[in-house]
Amino acid sequence: MSDERYDVTVIGGGPGGYVAAIRAAQLGLKVALVEKENLGGVCLNWGCVPTKSLLRNAEVISLLGRGKDFGFRLEGFQADYGVAVDRSRQVSERLVKGVSVLMRENGIEVVEGTGTLQGGGSGGAGTLQVAVALKAGGGRTLATRNVILATGGRARSVPGIVPDGERVLTYREAIVLRDLPSSAVIVGAGPIGMEFAQVWQSYGCQVTVVEMLPRALPLEDEEVSAVVARNFKRQKIKLLTDTRLEGLEMTDGGVRVRVTNKKGEQILEAERVLVAIGIQPNSDNLGLDAAGVRVERGFVPVDDEMRTNVPGVYAIGDVTGKLALAHVASAQGIVAAECIAGAETRRLDYEAMPRCTYCQPQVASFGLSEAQAAERGHTFKVGKFFFLANGKALALDDRDGFVKILAEVNSGEILGAHMVGPEVTELLPELVLARTWELTPEEIARAVHAHPTLSEALMEAAHGVFGKAIHA
Ligand code: FAD
Repeated sequence: MSDERYDVTVIGGGPGGYVAAIRAAQLGLKVALVEKENLGGVCLNWGCVPTKSLLRNAEVISLLGRGKDFGFRLEGFQADYGVAVDRSRQVSERLVKGVSVLMRENGIEVVEGTGTLQGGGSGGAGTLQVAVALKAGGGRTLATRNVILATGGRARSVPGIVPDGERVLTYREAIVLRDLPSSAVIVGAGPIGMEFAQVWQSYGCQVTVVEMLPRALPLEDEEVSAVVARNFKRQKIKLLTDTRLEGLEMTDGGVRVRVTNKKGEQILEAERVLVAIGIQPNSDNLGLDAAGVRVERGFVPVDDEMRTNVPGVYAIGDVTGKLALAHVASAQGIVAAECIAGAETRRLDYEAMPRCTYCQPQVASFGLSEAQAAERGHTFKVGKFFFLANGKALALDDRDGFVKILAEVNSGEILGAHMVGPEVTELLPELVLARTWELTPEEIARAVHAHPTLSEALMEAAHGVFGKAIHA
């Protein structure tokens, strides 16, 4: 039996789904949101937010570890990892509750259960149906004019290796693990692997990161990766790049990890293994086949307005296979809701999407790397400024890294920015804003930046595009 009819039914309450639901409600639409687990999705519960909370602990430990330089002595210092995890859970819970309040305040009906798109347009012209297996038992069918698929993704596993959740973990188990292992192998040197490596090593776990590609954070600028690798080495995190995971074997105390690289085969012994090689989309068991929604390698392709091939069915977030980032999911959600409501919207420029990794030093970037800009035939200049020459960075005793801006010579268009160093994730939005509204490096350079701030490095790098940095 169908109950009342909605304008939009969102399946999945992560940063894609809940943001889409809010924007749709703001635009006057009647909205239902179906969530099978927790509002906030991976981001608030198991991903972005709890990792940042743990990273904050890691940062404090690192600062205390340099206490001598600041002239303070700590005797009998102890760091309890379990408390760090508890704090991260509290932060997550607080935000999840906040989303629940937002749902209520925006008049969005949250339906707790697993949603499936019903095939065959059985609801009549212009009507779709979403069947919900309710958490509380029983079922319900929602008749709706539009559906937004926002079901996200889950950890991708290495073929032939099935994480058991105890000794071989994915982020899902790792994020709530209170008993830190004494040693760990982390497979994958992308943002997730690197952030866990940072946290665990800071609490005394001996971490080895294994990466198949030639460098850590392989999608970032090469020089950025080099700065991060150098810092990880300093922190005694072992990075094995160009190294392939061949197999795992359980031992009495943990796991024996077999890897190969140009030196041949190597056996790594560790208490736990974390597999962090990316995500796979949650597009199975969603009724997409029967409803005729096209799926490619598991992802749901969408156009600029987040439409799938089936009228009235939209998709956003990790399930679309664009960029598996929370803010991208949210931005897509806003576009989808606006398109459904017939409101004005703005096409997303995926290349301009900010990408951040919150290890120490932090990494932040968007747009093209120098190699990509050259490949595409751009004539460009690079402005680069090192934090070593930035007063605030020195005052913070956090001076490794740089800001690099790439700009097209004739138009001044900002093609990309690559940063590594203190708080660069907080500095990036200025450059994203500049790119979005087509400001040139000259205009950034002419905007007076307060002194002393880390943001002066942006101004200097912008001056540097014309070879006119003041402090370089
Ligand atoms: P999700 O957040 O995955 O939410 C999907 C929701 O749909 C889930 O709640 C799920 O329960 C629900 N669902 C699935 N199927 C159904 C169904 N059939 N019926 C009902 N509900 C369903 N991104 C960043 O931008 N910054 C970061 O710092 C960052 N850190 C991360 C750290 C880790 C450890 C991980 C794993 C990810 C991180 N990410 C980060 C990525 C980010 O979490 C995802 O890109 C983001 O959560 C995707 O949002 P989404 O809405 O598409 O899906």
